[in-house]
Amino acid sequence: MSRFELTVWGARGSIPAPAAANTRYGSDTSCIELRCGERVIFLDAGTGIVAAGRKLYEEKLVNDFDVLLTHCHFDHVMGLPFLIPLYKDHVSARIFAGHLLDGTTCRHMVNRFMCPPYFPVTPKQFAAKIDYRNFRPPDAIDLGDGILVKTFRLNHPNGAVGYRIEFEGRALCYITDTEHLAGEIDEALVSFIAGAEVMIYDSTYTDEEFARFVGFGHSTWQQGVRLCQAAGVTRFVAFHHDVSRTDGWLEALEAEMRDVLPGACVARTGLTLTV
Ligand SMILES: [Zn+2]
Ligand SMILES: [Zn+2]
Repeated sequence: MSRFELTVWGARGSIPAPAAANTRYGSDTSCIELRCGERVIFLDAGTGIVAAGRKLYEEKLVNDFDVLLTHCHFDHVMGLPFLIPLYKDHVSARIFAGHLLDGTTCRHMVNRFMCPPYFPVTPKQFAAKIDYRNFRPPDAIDLGDGILVKTFRLNHPNGAVGYRIEFEGRALCYITDTEHLAGEIDEALVSFIAGAEVMIYDSTYTDEEFARFVGFGHSTWQQGVRLCQAAGVTRFVAFHHDVSRTDGWLEALEAEMRDVLPGACVARTGLTLTV
């Protein structure tokens, strides 16, 4: 059986959270690295992708990778202009976006984001061979080498896409950023994640806080657990932590989650799991 592994490079939502009280779970925003056999796939390009890209470049083993963006809110793309391999001419990369609702293409979205006066470097300065790919959920994307990516439209301001990555009979779901309806379970989402080995889920809030944040486009860890229970998913990873969450808070959350679902854990920078 080939390697199918995830590494968390950034688990924060909305904005980086550097603070002495956050060193164990980390301060970087959304980025997960997947290894499927020899292939490298990044889920989102938040600030976490900067260190991931540096490591990839220093290893000099992998010169080809995919980036699957859930959407282009800053916390999910902020690291892209600092992804070192994109400035190397021996590198090939594919960047996928499918959340855009107004006909904007993936290439146009990156051009608009990396553009003076907001940022001095434009994508023209990337030396890598970059293929910008567009899709529309529920399109499935065949990445080759037996890797199939399924997609699901999430409920988030300006749109977002959930991913299910299937490889050699195993599956991992990455479901952030999304808002649920209180008291309801989205049966279409349950079907999408059903049978997956691991689900990473938007756990920005708790159920107790949720009423105050309706319309913000995020969910709760308890909703993630309910989805896992409905879909028969045993390994749940709470993700997209609010800037206010300290190490102590997240540690207590992990203990509370495990009382309900023993296979649950809280995402932290450096966490590696075999799918
Ligand atoms: Zn976010
Ligand atoms: Zn967002």
